Amino acid sequence: MSVPVNLHTHLEGRVRPSTAAELASAAGVPEPTDGWEAALSLDGPADLTTYLDKVAASYPFFGTPELLARIACEAVEDAAADGCAYLELRFGPATHVRDGWSVDDVVRAACEGVRLGVARSGMPAGIVVAALRKRSAESNLAVARAAARFAGDGVVGFDLAGDESVVPQIAPFVDCYAVARAAGLGLTCHAAEAAPGFRAREAVELLGVTRIGHGAHLAADPELLRWAAGSGVTVEVCPTSNWFTGAIGSVRAHPAPVFAAAGVGLVLGDDNPVQTRSPLSAEREVLTTALGFAPDDLAALDARSVEVGFMPDSTRAALRARAAEMHSNEGPEPS
Ligand SMILES: [Zn+2]
Repeated sequence: MSVPVNLHTHLEGRVRPSTAAELASAAGVPEPTDGWEAALSLDGPADLTTYLDKVAASYPFFGTPELLARIACEAVEDAAADGCAYLELRFGPATHVRDGWSVDDVVRAACEGVRLGVARSGMPAGIVVAALRKRSAESNLAVARAAARFAGDGVVGFDLAGDESVVPQIAPFVDCYAVARAAGLGLTCHAAEAAPGFRAREAVELLGVTRIGHGAHLAADPELLRWAAGSGVTVEVCPTSNWFTGAIGSVRAHPAPVFAAAGVGLVLGDDNPVQTRSPLSAEREVLTTALGFAPDDLAALDARSVEVGFMPDSTRAALRARAAEMHSNEGPEPS
């Protein structure tokens, strides 16, 4: 037994289809022919642009701070119901700014929603604010400054998300990461998901991140793999998402075993579970059934998740204690 931790999941990929249906009905938006679940989900593998279009189908539902807070609260509750012990929920505030409300209003609403979800579920959670690749430097700086203002008050980390197949460069984001770093936020970055592996190394060296989202293409280059293992960076793997975005040809081709064999630190996420219909519990099954992870491998991944999560020390200590208690309750293996 271990303590499942979800370190890579997007608010925009966790809008309940039932909530979408309710909000669309209230707004007079007609139901899609096959219903909202089909409208938001993919049936199988596609490419990153198609995948992100499905995620974007949820954007209209974030139309007010109250709705954004509700969706954030439900995301936390759903993760807890899936068996998660700690959640980092990332989102791109710039997407949700509307007339009359600011980036701060958007981040505040997400923090309030997460706080309510934590209170209801009893599961700790934090927000990772994401800059977006296609947005202007000015927009991303404004997002970083808003994230900095909420550091320690709901926001725990900073990320770069969006379509890497269109904007693979890392250098344009140095300034916004400097703002996030100065505020003490944990730093991660989607990289080498749709671009070559060297983009992950650039993210570490130029942005100072300690974690990489996906990093799937690192596995193609033995030299980069050696660098990743030696650098201490942690790769956030999301196997089904990588299959659905076309980063890998099948879920069994996911490089998690290659990373593990090379000594690269791994943690797990479900990325956008409404789009893939594969929440964290199912991704854990993928690791064990499709990718050959033994119980000890999964326990090592869980332990690393607790160590590299952008959580307060009190939460880390509580999760360590919970994992240790579970381990001691298991007793010796039967002979
Ligand atoms: Zn992601």
